[in-house]
Amino acid sequence: MKLSFHGAVREVTGSCMHLKVKDTAGVEHRYLFDCGMFQGEHLCGDKNMRPFAFDPKHVEAVFVTHPHADHNGRLPKLIKEGFAGPIYMTPPCTALSRLVLEDAHHIMAEEAEKCGSSVLYELADLLGTFDRVKTVGYHEEVAPAPGIKIYFHEAGHVLGSAYISVEAEGKRVIFSGDIGNDDVPILPQTEAISRADVVVCESTYGHRVHEPIAERETKLRGALEEVMTNKGVLLIPAFSIERTQELLYALDRLLEHELKTTMPIFLDSPMAIKATQVYRDFKEYLRFDSPILQEADRDFFSFKNLRETLTVEESKAINNVPAPKVIIAGSGMMSGGRIMHHLIRYLPDPSTRLLIIGYQATGTIGRKIYEGEKRVRIFGQSVEVKAKTAAIGAFSAHGDMNKLTRWLHPESGKIPTEIFLTHGDSDAKEVFATHLRHELGTQVVIPEFESEHEIS
Ligand SMILES: [Zn+2]
Repeated sequence: MKLSFHGAVREVTGSCMHLKVKDTAGVEHRYLFDCGMFQGEHLCGDKNMRPFAFDPKHVEAVFVTHPHADHNGRLPKLIKEGFAGPIYMTPPCTALSRLVLEDAHHIMAEEAEKCGSSVLYELADLLGTFDRVKTVGYHEEVAPAPGIKIYFHEAGHVLGSAYISVEAEGKRVIFSGDIGNDDVPILPQTEAISRADVVVCESTYGHRVHEPIAERETKLRGALEEVMTNKGVLLIPAFSIERTQELLYALDRLLEHELKTTMPIFLDSPMAIKATQVYRDFKEYLRFDSPILQEADRDFFSFKNLRETLTVEESKAINNVPAPKVIIAGSGMMSGGRIMHHLIRYLPDPSTRLLIIGYQATGTIGRKIYEGEKRVRIFGQSVEVKAKTAAIGAFSAHGDMNKLTRWLHPESGKIPTEIFLTHGDSDAKEVFATHLRHELGTQVVIPEFESEHEIS
């Protein structure tokens, strides 16, 4: 087998791995595992636009771990450049990928019009992507060639997320995708690895240990109680997939069942509203023993306090609703979207609470506020920050150093002979690699962009 890396090597995004593998007759086949977009630059930026180092026409199938853009965002480009095989993913991953890729195309078309750049792919390529999708369930065997078997396993990262195992040439190779946090209330736990020779493992938080999950409820409850007392507004910039749904689940329990308030919660993000509907549609993929699933006729993630504001008019009407109120809006890093209008309106008010529940990249307004800047520029306006800010780290959708280490060490006791680390910036990977070499005593490789590795 020969494995090469075409993204997410010394950075967090752009996941794409190419595997050459022989069937029982010795014939070589070529498969891709994820085909993600590089983020943090323009969608039509150089890294996304550059041609693949392999010929997409020779790739026979693609296996997609989950619907985040850094794992599926270059699929339409692959189609545009001649890929004509099947794309395998779970049913919820398909529904969520459609939302993600449509949103990316929309942003890209706007960017292209503004700066006159070319687009990464056309609408026809996007539609063509979904024509090629074949949905696959967890543990369902995919046998693309004699002696090659591929399976999807629960990753516990977002709805329908998977890690993927490949059995061929007498070896078992695993692609982690993104591995979820421990004890996520709404998702099944990450499935344990039964056996692996080689693992390609993400290391986004391989250098960190998250705060305990119980702390997120304490902090969320504290923020809610403060705005209820002050008659203020609680602003929560949220990421559409997974974190919004976890937040809704936590808010439902706190507001309706514990704090017993009718304070309205506005979900003010068309993307998050649509993603939440996918979570309702695929409820059988949620954690089966979760209390939310045990209530008959429960409309998942819907509760008395929640109001979904899909249209611009509905969004603007939030202003007329007296405080206290909670507004959940994108984007999560406060780099665009409806949250910007709410920030302009409510940041100068000392009764406002701003709750940050996700990573804030350098240069974003979110990062500036998080670091304590007292004045920020939004849409050309200077906005004073008098709102009190709090951050909750435990909403992370990624496993930390302890979780990843436990996952890599299979229950049977057999430690993989080789581990490749992807995602995560260089520092995170170096720290995690050293930790794994020490803890597991195995070979850990930090691959370079477009490097090819023989797996023997
Ligand atoms: Zn992800």
